[in-house]
Amino acid sequence: MNSLFDKFAEAAEKRDSLSQLGTNPTQVVMERAIDATTAQINGKPTILAGTNNYLGLTFEPECIDAAKHALTQSGTGTTGSRMANGNYADHVLLEQEIAEFYGYPQAMLFSTGYGANLGTLAALVGPGDVVMLDADAHASLYDGCKLSGADIYRFKHSDPDSLDKRLRRLGDRASSALVAIEGLYSILGDYPKLSEFCDVCEKYGAMLLVDEAHSLGTMGEHGRGLSEAEGVLNRVDFIVGTFSKSLGATGGYCVSRHEELSLFRYTSRPFIFTASPCPSVVASTRAALKLLREQPERRERLWTIATRLYNGLSDLGLTLGPQISPVVAVRCHSAEYAMSVWQRLLAEGVYTNLIVPPASPDGSSLIRCSLSAAHTDEQVEQIIAAVGVATAGQNAT
Ligand code: PMP
Repeated sequence: MNSLFDKFAEAAEKRDSLSQLGTNPTQVVMERAIDATTAQINGKPTILAGTNNYLGLTFEPECIDAAKHALTQSGTGTTGSRMANGNYADHVLLEQEIAEFYGYPQAMLFSTGYGANLGTLAALVGPGDVVMLDADAHASLYDGCKLSGADIYRFKHSDPDSLDKRLRRLGDRASSALVAIEGLYSILGDYPKLSEFCDVCEKYGAMLLVDEAHSLGTMGEHGRGLSEAEGVLNRVDFIVGTFSKSLGATGGYCVSRHEELSLFRYTSRPFIFTASPCPSVVASTRAALKLLREQPERRERLWTIATRLYNGLSDLGLTLGPQISPVVAVRCHSAEYAMSVWQRLLAEGVYTNLIVPPASPDGSSLIRCSLSAAHTDEQVEQIIAAVGVATAGQNAT
């Protein structure tokens, strides 16, 4: 007899194979977060080289104080959605501050970055429309497309020519298509030639959405992301981002140069049918956004140590992602080998991310390291030394 639970056999097998490692990577417990770059894991202080805390703001006194103040002033939660249960003044202020940060007329908050992609796509496209997705796009972009009911076509990762071909084949439908890409891809740490994507979209009249989840705060002179770094803020149609990485909180947003974004509030189910962000989260996000704007030195520091990490790992003879960025990926020749490197790194006191198929972009296995502006030079050297020990005697690729 069939059961709904039959489909879990594969997941159970995966869990068991990961557990054979000793420490199952999906079940690592940070017994205590010590500061922005260290946590206690298995009883000992461990360097966090696998978070998205790019600007190191999670323990910033200004952010913590703002959150505490909001807790006492506005309580622990909003208990409902903005549509049904009301907007808090801070929701509106944060929206205004984000719009102003980008120089756009509109911004819209969501309760998570995942929800921001779902909510934007589900509002913008629907059955009969077309979304052109980068082959390595984040799951939330895929899920947003699915929720919308639009037709999904994939083009080769970061390849504007591949997009051009796909749009050409669409004929008349190309002018109402949406193209979705990312500003900084979170696994290999690579980033696309955004202006070339703008060229192709403009050629066919398609709209362009850029998910700047990992590039907010890390790229562009003022931290606005790849769209700023490439000088195309006036050519991109929608930017989606998250508060959960550089801003050290949770929540997401969509901004646009198009006034129509304000109408998404009336149609976007992931905006309407979920509770609005908690006051303390909105308050710490506002404080973090202020620091992002006032302290460009955090971004400079991040790129200085990212360059050191990339070069240090490269000098070990390892094969890395294609571009220097705050995410540095070490390619491994097999999933088993990647698991053993990850395990040895943890034993050396360095927490990284194990990425194996199907989570990896090209079917490969890798160790993802990511940096924070709060990492000290000494910690960066410790990470490099630990990778050296964990990969000793074997080339990772
Ligand atoms: N987009 C991208 C590219 C992401 O990497 C993530 C999170 N990993 C999200 C969206 C979702 O953001 P959040 O975790 O804040 O919901």
